[in-house]
Amino acid sequence: MLNYLRFLTVLAIPTLVSCSSMPEIDLAITGATIIDGTGTAPVNGMTILVKEGQIVAVEPDDCAEAKASHVIDATGKYVVPGLIDLHVHFGRGAPLPRREDEADEVLARQLYYGVTSILQLGATGGSADSIRKLRERRAAGSLRGPFIYGTGGHLTLQGTHPIYTIFPPAIRKAADSMAAKTPLDEPVDLDSLGIGLSFVRSEEAAQKAVRERAQAGMDAIKITVESGPTPFGDDHPQMSVEMIRAIVAEANRNGLEVFAHATSRDELEATLEGGASGIVHAVRNLPLPDADLAVQMASKGFWVVPTLNLLTRPDDLEDPFLRDTVSEQEITSLSNPEFVKRVSARWDCGAPFDDVLANVGMLHEHGVLIAMGTDTGNPFVFPGYSAHTEMELLVRSGLTPMEALVAATRRGAELLGVAGEVGTIQAGKRADILILAEDPTEDIRNTRSLETVVSEGLIVDRDALLRRGE
Ligand SMILES: [Zn+2]
Repeated sequence: MLNYLRFLTVLAIPTLVSCSSMPEIDLAITGATIIDGTGTAPVNGMTILVKEGQIVAVEPDDCAEAKASHVIDATGKYVVPGLIDLHVHFGRGAPLPRREDEADEVLARQLYYGVTSILQLGATGGSADSIRKLRERRAAGSLRGPFIYGTGGHLTLQGTHPIYTIFPPAIRKAADSMAAKTPLDEPVDLDSLGIGLSFVRSEEAAQKAVRERAQAGMDAIKITVESGPTPFGDDHPQMSVEMIRAIVAEANRNGLEVFAHATSRDELEATLEGGASGIVHAVRNLPLPDADLAVQMASKGFWVVPTLNLLTRPDDLEDPFLRDTVSEQEITSLSNPEFVKRVSARWDCGAPFDDVLANVGMLHEHGVLIAMGTDTGNPFVFPGYSAHTEMELLVRSGLTPMEALVAATRRGAELLGVAGEVGTIQAGKRADILILAEDPTEDIRNTRSLETVVSEGLIVDRDALLRRGE
């Protein structure tokens, strides 16, 4: 397979040497080394031509003379596709009162750091209706942020994660009283509590919830298989294989993939058996090594978005790159020892962190597809910034820097079923493009040398997205 790919790469080069004949181009990025997100070797001396928000050609620099109304000379620089974060919630990651404009702030920060597409996976502010409104505001130009894919409210059982684990008792009470008034064959939607989430207590209810999301224009279905992560106890119900199957069947009928929240081995196995496409967390208690399970996952095309950020915290909260967007007040709130103690109980659960990393490396080695997602909104997971640290953690797991870049670009698009639209620097794709001063394939931390973000063909005013107010 590898040899075949190399052969293709060699053949592909001559086809690039013809110039397009488009008269008017909005933007040309010239002279850069292009790392196109497909995983093939970087290419020098090429120009990216952008028109009406799309990449229309990638061709030799000689072709591009003065055809564009705007030219960025990126000689000596590196161009990569915009990042895709497949695991986003709307929160800043600090224990502060929620702001009215929390989602706006999260989206602005994502874009600042070069995250040009996100998958919002429900919970606070993540109902299908909220997603629709944000999309409309973004399209109208009153909201600055990445392209928004969404699942709408995630489907979970009554009595388990996240309402009965991490949400306050008042929310549980309100949710229970809503459930008491709802027939079993209807989903219990918590939209009115500001939470994108539905309890599903029968297969009928779950399938109805899936259809509603498909009709609302959502891009995938998110389910919580989780019985309740340690340290919240394991006495919460776990979603059955039958329920997962029923959801997957309805989702597939509606052209949607199912993303599952699972963190333990038995939840992973149920997800796999139920036919879901992948999981959005790392499995923390998988005994090492377990090649058999990895082979089985790979053979089904199963994927993992390990969301490793969630299990650790940045080494340096004074990191200037972080502080570009995160306020003093947020850092102070995160440094509260009581808060750190409470959160660190979550980091300590299951296997040691190095084992979790090794596990991800083992899955990758056996061909399980790995993509980048952060779980932004959780403590110490920072919108946009954590996309960069997540790529670093993927490299620590055993991916090469190039593979980590692919995980954060093309792979994300593939898992969302939108690889024809976005995720690589190729003609016909959305013009989501990052310009870096330094080579990220040398050292993945070089993604921090981000200089320019282009989102749907427009150059982002990153200064306007810097930290606003304390
Ligand atoms: Zn999540």
